[in-house]
This record gives sequence, structure tokens and C-alpha cells, in this order.
Amino acid sequence: MVNKSVGRPITQPENPHALTAQVLAEMLQVSVTNGLSKEEVDLRRRVFGPNKIAARPAVKRLALLLHQFTSPVAYLLAAAAALAFYFNELEEGFAIAAVLAANAAIGFFTELKAARSIEALRALDTQTARVRRDGLVGRVPSDDLVPGDIVPLEAGDAVSADIRLIEGSRIAADESALSGESTPMEKHSQAVAQMARLSERSSMLFKGTAVTHGSGIGIVTATGFATELGKISWLVIEADAGKSPLERKLARLSAQLAGATLVVAALVAVLGILAGRDKFLIVESAIALAVAAIPEGLPIVATLALARGMWRMVQENALIERLSAVETLGATTLILTDKTGTLTENRMVVQRLCTAEGEVNLHTEHDDKALLAELRADWQLALLLRLAVLCNDADLERVDAAGTGDPMEIALLRVGLQGSFRRSDLLLDHPLVRKHAFDPTQKMMATIHSSAAGVLVAVKGAPEAVINCATHVAVGNGEITLDEKSRSRWLDRVELLAGQGLRVLACAMRLRPQEPFSPFDQLVLVGLIGLQDPARADVPQAIRQCQQAGIRVVMVTGDHAATAKSIGRAIGLGESAANVVEGKSIDAMLKSGQPMLHDVGIFARVDPSEKLALVRAYQAAGDIVAMTGDGVNDAPALRQAKIGVAMGLRGTDVAREASAMILLDDAFSTIIKAVREGRVIFSNIRRAVAYLLSCNLSELIVVGAAVAGSLSLTLLPLQILYLNLVTDVFPAFALATSEGENGILDKPPRDPKEPILGHRQWSNILLHGMLLSVATLTANKVAIILIFDQAATVTITFLTLAFSQLWHVFNMRNRTDGVIFNEITRNRFLWLSLVLCITLLAIPPYFSPAAHLLHLVPLSTEMWFIVLISSILPLFTIQVAAASTRILVSIRR
Ligand code: ATP
Repeated sequence: MVNKSVGRPITQPENPHALTAQVLAEMLQVSVTNGLSKEEVDLRRRVFGPNKIAARPAVKRLALLLHQFTSPVAYLLAAAAALAFYFNELEEGFAIAAVLAANAAIGFFTELKAARSIEALRALDTQTARVRRDGLVGRVPSDDLVPGDIVPLEAGDAVSADIRLIEGSRIAADESALSGESTPMEKHSQAVAQMARLSERSSMLFKGTAVTHGSGIGIVTATGFATELGKISWLVIEADAGKSPLERKLARLSAQLAGATLVVAALVAVLGILAGRDKFLIVESAIALAVAAIPEGLPIVATLALARGMWRMVQENALIERLSAVETLGATTLILTDKTGTLTENRMVVQRLCTAEGEVNLHTEHDDKALLAELRADWQLALLLRLAVLCNDADLERVDAAGTGDPMEIALLRVGLQGSFRRSDLLLDHPLVRKHAFDPTQKMMATIHSSAAGVLVAVKGAPEAVINCATHVAVGNGEITLDEKSRSRWLDRVELLAGQGLRVLACAMRLRPQEPFSPFDQLVLVGLIGLQDPARADVPQAIRQCQQAGIRVVMVTGDHAATAKSIGRAIGLGESAANVVEGKSIDAMLKSGQPMLHDVGIFARVDPSEKLALVRAYQAAGDIVAMTGDGVNDAPALRQAKIGVAMGLRGTDVAREASAMILLDDAFSTIIKAVREGRVIFSNIRRAVAYLLSCNLSELIVVGAAVAGSLSLTLLPLQILYLNLVTDVFPAFALATSEGENGILDKPPRDPKEPILGHRQWSNILLHGMLLSVATLTANKVAIILIFDQAATVTITFLTLAFSQLWHVFNMRNRTDGVIFNEITRNRFLWLSLVLCITLLAIPPYFSPAAHLLHLVPLSTEMWFIVLISSILPLFTIQVAAASTRILVSIRR
């Protein structure tokens, strides 16, 4: 593609991997140090279009509409309408067709809305990319990248366009999405042969892959469909329509019920015809029976409950990435949480600086002047600060600015600025040669600088790691050997600082004529830095809620055991905070088949592979594990956990992609809120399904009784259709979107293997279905005894069943909730649905076309009296029975 809008035309280069970075920058007319200007970006965006590979619209309306006509119920209704036409019952035929259309419309709009809201949730998780424009580095939505953009990259980033590396430090990318090759590919900035195959183009990073190690800077060479991924986008399999296991289970249940019903209905028809009864009436009864028994609302109810629940979760800052996680979320028994940023604020402040010669306590009142005086007096202290500023990835302009990068590193830059050490100034004397990014397994990072005296290596990291690599200690103007005695004295100092809840870092250096083979060899230890990171205020309360809800919380941190223990105590991990196991002992502990896994409250100094081992061990012990993580190396553990939880603010793209849920605010307390919603969703679905099935069963019994008793039909097929497809669904929808009972977090987690309908639910469905039909049949009998005519009897029977089903929603309350004030009565959608349904039932008898179709007549006062009394009976009986059981249970206690 050619850009004609600027002086010289710009093209997306053909073989960027084979060009040098300089040639490429010239071709793309960009300065590597400043990046593109805003105007240039706008121009290029117009020419090259957005950087996306347009997915097909996710919800296809026509398909969704057609889908409404492909269920067993729809087939059945179509057959019924055809039969009616065949027997020349035109009105009946049209009416069935109308109900079929009404049902499809309800299904279509409900599903469309649910699907839309789920899509909108997906859109909340837009990917961003770091980019340098007008000399400043910032984040933009990755759709906005244009050819020529300069993008800094680091481990954990998703690669959002095809990028030619112009600078790289031990950078590697996972290209499995593109090539299927799962080992990360090493990348560098040298040009490669023009003929190199895709997998050999090690100077390129491709859209759709992710950076697993190191860092670098690159120049965007292709966007959107021009990228390698874009070229093969026809290969990209369309994402799964996103049905959750729960929805699939429900669809299967309704298909099974439909199958069984068809068999029974066919049997009834055959037997009736053999017995020589009126053919049309028999076929009609069989159809009525079938329609009565099939719970058509089931799958929609689940979709609705999920969509609504996921919206509520977003309001609480939890974004669901994988639909299947929602149902497991409610069954969570264990949360493995990291510490920094999740349990703590991640607002780091340097509190302590320790060198071989002394210690400075930076209290809040410690102003810059006092610090400067200390630094002038103490050369060691100044060296320590300089190293902390040099060996740093963050950016901070002024002491009072927010800065960009890791909060711990920003805190180091801040105290450096207070001591008048600005990184950019230090880099003038010690230009950066190379960087060894922080590695959570090694727990250290290093920067290599050239200096007048040769090469300076600046190292910072976890104290044990640094002290372990140190052979000398800096004292005065020189250094002395670090013997065993002083090594253990330093470790004691670390222990002391960590015991006060401080996060401790050690800094070390090395000055050599040439760059050493490994930056972590023969280091000179300079000192320790203690940083404070206060616990989040809402964590203790959230931990209490977890304990109440039968969910154990275990801290799994990369930090020092003593720091973790002190934070554990502060946030109320209680007894378990005393039981700390270090990462290096995990392997032995697991191998010895430790039952003590359940007694540990904190795992400290854990590296990512040990995290994975822990998740596996807990899962083997039967736990449903939710696990938090943010780093690129956490991805395997996040994937392994049923519920991987990534951080929205500080997490890497790779961790997000491996997770089932994202905490938009990074806060631990959000997890328990999400667990609550998970439980609510499950209980809503369970309730709505139980409600629908008991209503279906009552219809089945009523029709079955009529057929078996060779009574004339007590209910006509069209009436059942009306009940089933119109008036039942609204209360069920309202139940599916309920906000949940108050005490839902006071119960232990549900057994994940527990089916949606267990023994208790099935027996309730049976009992309730029978009670509803007994009331209806009683009303029918009373009407006959009181010698109402056939039309009035049918009207009474129909309305009794209809109203008893409506009142039945009040039976769906939780047993432990109050009779008057409970989740059902608090649900305003439910009241709305009742008003709607009552209107839909009360009008037809008085509105002659509807009355005619539904075979209803206007009701006299006596008739209304029978309907209301009989329909309220099941509610009354069930509530009285529930109350008596409660009283009996409390007496027995
Ligand atoms: P958590 O896992 O709870 O978030 P964490 O952030 O301390 O804890 P890691 O990021 O694995 O865990 O860090 C482990 C240790 O490595 C830290 O305690 C610290 O001593 C050191 N460390 C962390 N970040 C850096 C860094 N950027 N440079 C040097 N050392 C670091």
C-alpha cells in the first residue's frame, strides 16, 4: 500500500527482516528517538486503516432468529399447526403459528440482549500497546498502531503488529499462535537473509505472538491485514460461540425431556386411536401433552443468568474472560493469592537504607535537606542510592510525579531524586550498554554501563540472591572480603527488616576493565533498601468473608518469608500466617505426600514453576483453586488453575490471556465479590430451572389426568402453549436475574460435581408440580359440581393453573430467608413480570378474539373466587409446611 499524502510515498516494506534498522527507519520516515508525530499518525491511519483483523460480527441476528425455530419445541409446534390445518381447524392452526412466533420473538430478543451484553464485556478488555510518539512513551489501543510507530516491548507484552526489532536485550517470543512451535524463539536486531522462512526471521516480532523474555524496541512494519497473521486470517478459527458448560448441560437436559415426552405423547395417541376415540381430539391431546412437558425456557434462562451475573461482576471490577469459569467460581474452595499489589497497595515508599557503615531511617519528616546532608557525609549511602537509580526500568520526572513502571522501582527513583540523583544525569557518566531484565526465578536484575574506569555492573535483587553472589562488601572507599560470619550478619539484618513488614532489596556492583561473562559473578555488596508497602484496607474484611464462606486463603509470594509473615499478620490471615513454607521446600514437601498442605498459610520466596506445582497439588487434594498472577511466567499456573485471575492494572498481556478472570482494580476483595456472584448465578439458574420444571410437570399431570380419565380435555393445547410459552417464561427470567440472597456467602462452597438438579431439587419439583395440579384438578371438580357449563369450567381450570404457577414463584425463596422479606420479594423484575403476566391472563376472557381462540369466557364473581382460592392453595400449603419444618427443627435442637 502506498501513502501518497506525505512528501515521499510510504509503503509497508516488503522484506523488513532483511533490511537494517537504519534503512527501515528511513523508508518509514521516522526518527527512532522521537517516534512519529500526532499529525503523521493521523495521516497514516487514514492511509493504512486500523490495525485490526476484522472479525466477522460476533452475533449474527439472522442466524440467531433462525436458531429459535430449530428446537424440538418449534418442530413440535410446526407439526401441530400443520395437523390443525390438515383437520381444517384453521383458527387453531393460525393461533399455534402465532404462539410459535411470539415464543421465537421472546427467545430472540432475550438471547440477543444477553449476547450483546457479553460482547460488550469482551470489548472492555481492549488490548493496548506502548508506543513512542512525539518523543514521549505512552499507551494506545493496539488498533491505533500505524507503520513506522516506535514500540518499546518487554516480557509479558502481546505483540500487536509486525515489528522489526531495532534494539533487543535477550528478547524472545512465543510464536505458537502463528507457527505452532511452543519453545520461545530468540530474537535480535541484526538483519537476516531475505529468503529466511517465517520461523527464521529472528529480527522480527509478529502480530498475535507474545514476548516471553527480555526487552527491546521495534519499529512497526505492517499492521492489520498486511501482517503475517492478517495474511492467514482465513485460517484463524472463529472463536467458539461461547456457550458455557452449564448452558450445554441445560440444553442437553431439555433435549432429553423432549425426547421422552415425544415417546409418551406418541404412545397416548396410538392407544387413544386404538380405543376408537376422536382422532383429532387424540392427536390434539398428544400434542398438548408434549407441549406441556417440554421446558423450552431452559437454555435461555441459563444464558440470561450468566449475562446478567457477568454484568454485575463487572460492576464489582471482575471481568470474566472464560464463560466456563463462572460456574466453577461459585465452587471455589481455595484462593492462592500473591501479595504485592493484590493484598498490599503497591504504593511503595523507601523507609530504610543500610550499608556496611550505618543505617538511615527515612521517616516522613525526613526532608530532602536532611537526606542530602546524610548522603554528603556517607559515601556508601550515596553509592547505594546511585546503584538503585541506575539499575532501574522505571521513569520519574519529579519527586511529586506519579512515574511510569514498577512502583518499587519508582520509589527508588523518588528517593534518588530526593538525594539529587537523577537517572538521566547518572547515565551521562555511565551510559547504558545492556540490561538483564528482572527474572523471578533468579530474583535479580542487572544493568551494564560503560564508565571511565571500564565497565560498571549494577545489580539489585532479593537479598539472599545478591548476598549469595557477593564475594566482597563495599566499605569506606574500597571493599573487603565477605566472609561467612559477615554474610550471616547481613542475612540477620535482612531478617530484621523483613520482620517489620518491609520489602527488602540488596544492591551490589562490580567494576571491571571489560564486560564480565556473567553480570552476577563476584559482586561487591553495597547495601540493603527496605521499602514499605501497606496492606490494602479492605483485605482483612475480605479474608473474614472468605473464611465465613468456607474458602481458604493462602498467600503465595515471591517475597521474603518474614515480610510475608508480617503482612499476613496485619491482614488477619490468623493462625495460618504463622505457618510459612519457603518455595525451595515445596518440592520435598509435596514428594513426601504431605497432608500438611492444608495447614500452610503462606508460601514465600516461591518461583513461578513452584506456583504451578502448588496448584497441581491442591487440585489433586480436591480443591477448586482460584489463583492470582501477573507475570509472564505465571501463565502456566494461571492456566492450570480452574480460575486463573489476572490483574487488570499491573498484569502482563500474557497473564491476562491465560486467565479466566481479570481484576480490573487488582484488589483481593474483588475476588470474593466475584465468588459471590458465581454462587448467585448458579443458584439463580437452579431456581429458574426448578420453577419451570415444576410448572411443566403440573401441566403434564393435568393433561395426563384428563386423557387417562377419558374426560373431555380440561385444558386445550393452545391454552397450554399460552401458559408455557408466554406466561411461565417471564417469572423464570426474573428468577434468573435475581441479585442473590444475603447469606449466600455464609455457606460452604458447593460441591463442583453437584448437578444443577440434585435429589432435593427433583423431589421439590415433583412435590410442587403435584400440588399445583391437585389445586387445578380440584378447581375443575368444583366447577363441575357447581354445574358450570363446559366453557366456564375450562376457563376456571385454565386460570387456576395459570395463577397457581404465578404464585408459585414465591415458593422459590431460600428456606432460611424470611417469608415476607426475601430475595424473591426484593426482586423488582419479578414484580414487573407478575404484573405483566396477570395482565396477560386477565384480559383474554374479556377480549373476544383472544377469548375465542383460547376458548375462554368472561368470569363471574363466583368463578373468580374459585380461581383465586384454589390457585393460592399450593403456595399456602408449601409455606405452612416449610414453616412447620423449621419450627420442628428448631425444637429438636
Ligand atoms: P508477589 O509474588 O506477592 O507479587 P513479589 O512481587 O515480591 O511478591 P517477585 O516479583 O517474584 O515477587 O519478586 C521476588 C523478589 O525479587 C522481591 O521480593 C524482591 O526482593 C526482588 N525483586 C522484585 N522485583 C525486582 C526488580 N524489579 N528488580 C530487582 N529485584 C526485584
